[in-house]
Amino acid sequence: MRIKITSILILTGMLIGLVTGLVYLSSTAYHVLKTPTPVAVSFDVERDPPAITRGEITFKGVGEIPEILEILDEHGVKSTFFITGRVTDNYPQTLNLISQHGHELAVHGGYYHDQKIRGLGKEKQIEEINKTIFLIENLTGKRPVGYRAPGHQIDSNTINALEELGFRYDSSVVPSLAGFYLYDHKLYAPSFPYNPDYSDPFKGGDMNILEIPLTPVFLNGNLDSLLAYQGQFITKLELIISVVKCKIYRKPLVIYLHPGLMADHPNEPSGYRSGKYLIGEFNEILTFLERLNVRYVTLEEIVEEAEETEEIGIKSQDR
Ligand SMILES: [Zn+2]
Repeated sequence: MRIKITSILILTGMLIGLVTGLVYLSSTAYHVLKTPTPVAVSFDVERDPPAITRGEITFKGVGEIPEILEILDEHGVKSTFFITGRVTDNYPQTLNLISQHGHELAVHGGYYHDQKIRGLGKEKQIEEINKTIFLIENLTGKRPVGYRAPGHQIDSNTINALEELGFRYDSSVVPSLAGFYLYDHKLYAPSFPYNPDYSDPFKGGDMNILEIPLTPVFLNGNLDSLLAYQGQFITKLELIISVVKCKIYRKPLVIYLHPGLMADHPNEPSGYRSGKYLIGEFNEILTFLERLNVRYVTLEEIVEEAEETEEIGIKSQDR
């Protein structure tokens, strides 16, 4: 009899434990899923990729920007455009248009996209980056606060130069193993926004500037971020996985795109898939993302939110 009562008590205890656990898990899952994921849609505006133009310097991507802006408006998206000095200098009307639509203008390297900045001393890097800051500020009246290095190429001098120039964030790091810029991908870098170390931009540390890494995608063989170099967009399955991962780890999803790929390049070598049709696919992706409970933010807004709250994972080394 006593044994029977004891087993009933044990069973009841187990049952209560199980139910409590399930309630806890489902409420956590509910909370995770119902919190909208911050999604930053960012564009790198530069000369069209030379691999596609067969070495010719063209700027067809700049011509696609008005259509891209319309799509962003339709979806209520405010995004961040990283621009080279040369584009700023040659296409001031386009920059004004981007700015009039309420998007953030940020710096993409020095005057020329292909100019190597990494490896130069800090003072020299400051001088090169200053050329683009000056052009953007002169045109819009607003000093840019964000930076992305062409080819993701940064070193400790770059990040120190950026902090000295008053930048609030850098968004160059790709925390993955492979991709088109194999050498520049850092698997050990945090995939959360983090404050870098003064001597290593790929490690968390005490700097004031925030590093907002790109979100790598691991399926489809493309470890680059959301638009692969050859013009293949992320699949819906990849999007779902990426968004759910961001929800679980409470980090923002950072998409990066090249208008240069979203223009027709009829003479592109085989294997590339650039073209205007990608603008349609981009539209579809925004529509799909909206069903996944996301909210669109600029990268500058990520910095603001990170400064206000610990929610976004500032100073966190977790992956
Ligand atoms: Zn670039």
